[in-house]
Amino acid sequence: MIPAATRTPTLPTLGDGPVVAYEHGQREVFCGLTGIIWLHRKIQDAFFLVVGSRTCAHLIQSAAGVMIFAEPRFATAIIEERDLAGLADVNDELDRVVGRLLKRRPDIRLLFLVGSCPSEVIKLDLSRAAARLSRQFSPAVRILSYSGSGIETTFTQGEDACLASLVPELPNEPKESPPALLVVGALADVIEDQFGRLFQQLGVSPVRFLPARRAADLPTIGPNTRFILAQPFLADTAKALERRGATRIPAPFPIGVEGTTQWLAAAAKAWNVDAARLASVTAIGRERARRALARYQEELAGKRVFLFPDSQLEVPLARFLSRELAMQLVEVGTPYLNRQLLAEELELLPSGTALVEGQHVDDQIDRCRAARPDLVVCGLGLANPLEAEGMTTKWSIELVFTPIQGYEQAADLAELFARPLVRRTRLSA
Ligand code: SF4
Repeated sequence: MIPAATRTPTLPTLGDGPVVAYEHGQREVFCGLTGIIWLHRKIQDAFFLVVGSRTCAHLIQSAAGVMIFAEPRFATAIIEERDLAGLADVNDELDRVVGRLLKRRPDIRLLFLVGSCPSEVIKLDLSRAAARLSRQFSPAVRILSYSGSGIETTFTQGEDACLASLVPELPNEPKESPPALLVVGALADVIEDQFGRLFQQLGVSPVRFLPARRAADLPTIGPNTRFILAQPFLADTAKALERRGATRIPAPFPIGVEGTTQWLAAAAKAWNVDAARLASVTAIGRERARRALARYQEELAGKRVFLFPDSQLEVPLARFLSRELAMQLVEVGTPYLNRQLLAEELELLPSGTALVEGQHVDDQIDRCRAARPDLVVCGLGLANPLEAEGMTTKWSIELVFTPIQGYEQAADLAELFARPLVRRTRLSA
C-alpha cells in the first residue's frame, strides 16, 4: 500500500481503475544508451556511435554482456578531458572518427550519432554534426542523431528517440495509395514474422515495420498510414508519425493472450475484418498459448508481485500477470505514465491497483520491504541488495531483451517470472 503522503492530489484515480501516485526523487534506472543493445541487432546495416565518455563505453559494453562481435555495430567516440575543457574542437575530432569508421566499414548504411551526458554538458550539437556529415557521405550513408543521455532519457526512451529520429526520413506514401498498416517498435525478427503471417491471414495489408531490418527499406508514411504501437514507450515516435499525417490505432500491447488478441483485433477493426474471421485466424495461437500458460498459472496464482519502475513495460506486464496468471499486484511502478498510449491497458488493470509514476527509490524500497512480496521485478542495481535481504527478484532488463510479444511467447514470458520463484524454493528446500 502506498502511504497517503506520497500521493499527489492533482493526479486522480482513473475511474474504477488503478490508484495513481506520483513520486519524485532519486531514481535507479538505466540511461537511453541501453537501447543500442537491441536496436543494433534489429537494424542490420546500422551503426551506433556514442559520443560520450569512458563510462558510456563501459555501460554499453557491460549491458551487451558477453556478446563478442568480429565486427561490432556500436562504439564510443570518447570525449577526452581536453574536449571537456574546450581545448579541442570536438567537431573536428568527430569528423575524423566518422571518416575513419566509414572507410573501414563500407557495409554501414545508417549511422546514428548518439548523444550522452558529456556531449550534452559541452553542448555539442549532434544534429548539426549529423547534417554536415550526411552531406559529406550521402547517398552511401544516412547519418542521423538522437540523445541517449541519462539527463534526458531512461532506458527504453533511447529506442523512442532513435525511432523518432528516423520518422522525418520516411518517404512520403504515393498519392491515393491504399491504407497501409505500420507496426511501430523493435520486435525480434521471429515475432515480426509471426505477426506478419497473422495480419496476412486476416487480410490486413500492406503491413510494414518500423524499424525495418535494413536501412534502405524505410516504410512510406502519410495520411493513408494507420500505425499501431508494439511497444508502450514510443510517445515521441507516435507524435512524429502523427505530424507526418499517420493515424494511431489505439490498442493494448501484444503481451499475453489477451493483449495479443486485442492488439490484433484493433488492427483488424481498422480494416473492417469481421469477428468470425478474427476468431478463426487467432484460434490456434490462442489455444496453444492458453494450454502452455496453464502450468505457470499453478505456480504463480496468488503470488504477490512488486514492480519497480524501469522499462515502461510495467503496466502491460502487470495486466498480464494479474489477468492471465492471477498474481496479486502489490505495487506497479513506471518511470512515466502516458495515459493516452496506455488508456486501453489502464482499463484492464484490476480496480485499485497501486500505480506509481516516477520514483523515490528509498521510499519505494521501504514500501517493498514492508510488503514482503513473493517476487520483485527491478533493475540490476536493486536486485542484488534485495536478494541479500531474502527477497526473490527478476531483472526487468531481461524482459526487454527477451522476445515476449505474441501468442507463441506468452508461456516463455510467464516462465521468466516463475523461474526465480522455483530457484528460491529449491534453495530453501
Ligand atoms: Fe552514464 Fe550519461 Fe553515459 Fe548514460 S549517457 S552511461 S548516464 S554518462
